[in-house]
Amino acid sequence: MSERQRIGFIGLGAMGSLMAQHLVSVGVQVVAFDVDETKRRQFEFFADSPADVAKDVEWVICMLPHPDVLQNVLLGKHGIRETARPGTMVIDMSTSGPDIDVFCAQALEPSGVELIDAPVGKGTWAAGQGALTILAGGTSDQIARATWLLRLLGTKIIHCGPLGSGQVVKLGNNIATCANLAAVYEAYQFATSNGANVEALLEVMRETAADSWQLNNTVPRALANDFSLGFKSSLALKDLTLTLSRAATEGLHLPCTQGALTWYQRSVDAGDGDRDLGVIFKQSARLID
Ligand code: NAD
Repeated sequence: MSERQRIGFIGLGAMGSLMAQHLVSVGVQVVAFDVDETKRRQFEFFADSPADVAKDVEWVICMLPHPDVLQNVLLGKHGIRETARPGTMVIDMSTSGPDIDVFCAQALEPSGVELIDAPVGKGTWAAGQGALTILAGGTSDQIARATWLLRLLGTKIIHCGPLGSGQVVKLGNNIATCANLAAVYEAYQFATSNGANVEALLEVMRETAADSWQLNNTVPRALANDFSLGFKSSLALKDLTLTLSRAATEGLHLPCTQGALTWYQRSVDAGDGDRDLGVIFKQSARLID
């Protein structure tokens, strides 16, 4: 990047704050917004609303917790549509599902504002280092124009197809991610209930086809009762819910996804929605105590 660019960034949570700070660290001027005033005030340039962000930038990144929030930020009162100039490009890097991105892109089109989807793989550890895997959806021309910015945030950019394709790939990836952790949790519950040596179980899994990123990263933290920062169980529940809703419209039956959802739902119901998804290990799988 030859000159200092100015971009808007909306949603400064576990991921967004690190991504936005990383952009600042490589010389991008970030105009930040989050409903939480404390979070936006941590940036040198901050705005009071999404409309305030969009009024003098050509690029806006969204990293938001839910599709309804995204729709409101883009199209609602004091939303981006109110002030964005023709030629502005919105990049939805949240996991929002394909339908809302397509809907919002169509709603923004008359204003000359474009939207692409670019949800991300990997977590907070990669967000702060510009090392994300980015799953982009849009036309080849749109992705080419956005690449200068996506490259600052990710080491790998995969063009998945037209608008919404990045979201579909991301939801598919999260079936495997969330169901994998649920499967390790069930193996753990089964082994402990049967009096097995848990360390032996974990060692065998690491040595065999049961090995996984979740086993080596999320599980040790969960077993140490560390459920801090990472991917909230409420976000896992949101992703699996979006997946099943989309699958239903395609007439697909995904019992493994449905089963995994049960564990994240239980954690959210128990008040642990804001804790890392490894919090499912706090539960008991016993039907009879
Ligand atoms: P988070 O809950 O930590 O952060 C969301 C932020 O959005 C919060 O700071 C919240 O205050 C803000 N917000 C809520 N409503 C708002 C509004 N109307 N306007 C502006 N800001 C608003 O979530 P996160 O972990 O940062 O995840 C963000 C997105 O990225 C989600 O869609 C998630 O599924 C996805 N994601 C997360 C991870 C991860 O490891 N945490 C990894 C990949 C993808």
